[in-house]
Amino acid sequence: MSHLVIIGGGLAAISAAQAACNADAALQITILAAEPYLPYQRPMLSKGLATGVDVNKIALKSAAWFDEQRIEMHTSKRVTALETNTRIAICEDGTRIQWDALVLATGASAFSPPIDGVNALTLRTYDDMQRLRTALASADMMTVVGGGILGMEIAWEARKAIHVQILETSPYLLRRQLSEQAAQRVLQYLTANGIEVVTSVDQTQIGALCKGVVCVAAGARADTGLAAGAGLQVGRGIAVNEMMETSVKGIFAAGDVAELPGGFTGLLAIANGQGAIAGANAVAFLNNTPMRSYVITPPPAMLKIGDMSLLSVGDISAGEPLVYQDDARYVELRVLDGKLVAGILMGDVAVGMKLSGAIAKHMDVGTQDALAVLATL
Ligand SMILES: Cc1cc2nc3c(=O)[nH]c(=O)nc-3n(C[C@H](O)[C@H](O)[C@H](O)COP(=O)(O)OP(=O)(O)OC[C@H]3O[C@@H](n4cnc5c(N)ncnc54)[C@H](O)[C@@H]3O)c2cc1C
Repeated sequence: MSHLVIIGGGLAAISAAQAACNADAALQITILAAEPYLPYQRPMLSKGLATGVDVNKIALKSAAWFDEQRIEMHTSKRVTALETNTRIAICEDGTRIQWDALVLATGASAFSPPIDGVNALTLRTYDDMQRLRTALASADMMTVVGGGILGMEIAWEARKAIHVQILETSPYLLRRQLSEQAAQRVLQYLTANGIEVVTSVDQTQIGALCKGVVCVAAGARADTGLAAGAGLQVGRGIAVNEMMETSVKGIFAAGDVAELPGGFTGLLAIANGQGAIAGANAVAFLNNTPMRSYVITPPPAMLKIGDMSLLSVGDISAGEPLVYQDDARYVELRVLDGKLVAGILMGDVAVGMKLSGAIAKHMDVGTQDALAVLATL
């Protein structure tokens, strides 16, 4: 019986295991995950920051599910080295596990550049959340360094208990998702709800401006160490092709750790989609059957804080803007050569998935205004 080993304990790992199981019920599947918990829903860490969450209640799959699928799930099992010639994964505890096919789904870690005189926390794992909650319990002020989606969520949750400021080096918030005009509305909403926001902060001044508990939300870096140590081709992430194959035959990668030319990263939908392809293709590799390709589509980034919802999809710096706004709603579509290439929705985001589909197909916009385009979706 062939043995598929999956390294990692996030959504990409689970989705790879599930796809492999569906493709070949007789396959032996083992997941090796470093964290001491069953894989859990990472977004609940920020959403549950104020109230706390029980890690068992946010598990992606129950222990019973792994048993039913006959997937051997090992927690607290960090893999420290890979021998590609003998196809052996070596774990921190000395265990050596042989694979016939391997999926690397080691995800990413929070990026935390050093800040002078500050002992900053981050939020990536359940243990990080516990540390942050402990620190917040005895604090009266919090500084969030980074005005991206995660920074917004952390600030919003923490503000329920203490005073919060956000420090952002860019001239406006959510720089990757919004135009300056759209970001202005977010800024107004945050300040109206008591969150202080300082933009265009000089990197060297961050330390001096930090007050209270400091949490850095400055993005994540792919955990490529294991792959690099084994001689796999690695750039920002583990280099993969559209079949999620790495540079070594029989080894696949998926999710936040994978770097696919022209692809996107850092979202659950991607981890889920790539994991499924990696798992199915690992089985195809073992059974010598045709592999499937992962289809790259720009995934929507979403944020909901309080009663403000927003969705952003595509490259929002591309093309020309078509804007509609009133008190409750903001719509910005980006049009390049008459085709829809990106969009921002705030307030009513119900049409978001249809908008994503239209952007993926580069829908013709003609001379219509923003609302007329939305009405045709
Ligand atoms: C607080 C927070 C909120 C988020 N909210 C959203 C959201 O609302 N929507 C959205 O789309 N995305 C969100 N994201 C991003 C999303 O969670 C990630 O894109 C997704 O988790 C990536 O899944 P993954 O399986 O590739 O990696 P990860 O979830 O990072 O999982 C990787 C796992 O591999 C384990 N691992 C690493 N190295 C080893 C090793 N050597 N041996 C064994 N195990 C190892 C790690 O411990 C980890 O458990 C959020 C992220 C965070 C941190």
